[in-house]
Amino acid sequence: MPTSRRGEIGHFTVDRGPDALPCRCERSGCLETLASIDALAKAWSEAGGFGDKADFEAAALAGDEAAVSLLHLAAEQVGTVLALAVLVADPGEVVLAGEVPHLLPDFTERVQAAMLPGVLASQNIPVRRAQLGDEAGALGGVVALMAQRQASQPMKESPLSPSRLVVTGAPRVGY
Ligand SMILES: [Zn+2]
Repeated sequence: MPTSRRGEIGHFTVDRGPDALPCRCERSGCLETLASIDALAKAWSEAGGFGDKADFEAAALAGDEAAVSLLHLAAEQVGTVLALAVLVADPGEVVLAGEVPHLLPDFTERVQAAMLPGVLASQNIPVRRAQLGDEAGALGGVVALMAQRQASQPMKESPLSPSRLVVTGAPRVGY
């Protein structure tokens, strides 16, 4: 296991408005309140979808319009927040883990598209979905693993960089 560092992109504030949803971290408007699987299932249910998380997942996979539109918004929000993390960590790639990226065929493309305007031109890095095995501990959250740049891209290497930065929105606050 390479050196890693865990961040909490799930608790980046993305909604500062009066309707921002409360978060488990006791603040409100966190990314996790909008883009985690639980938040998406709840929003879907409140928008007229019928059922629980499993029903939301099934609906999304079946192309349900409300579910898909919630996932589009989530991808945009994840990408916007990821841009900030990428600016800081300057990884070689971003790997999205957890359930959410599996619910929409172009989720990672949408995340990347939302991320790009917020990063440097040199940081047009690949965003991909985790393979089985990358997912340990990732379920339930908004999770991105950021792999270090390869040796063929040495210009951004720094002795202070962790070899791998793990950024996760999975709930870790007070639990
Ligand atoms: Zn929070």
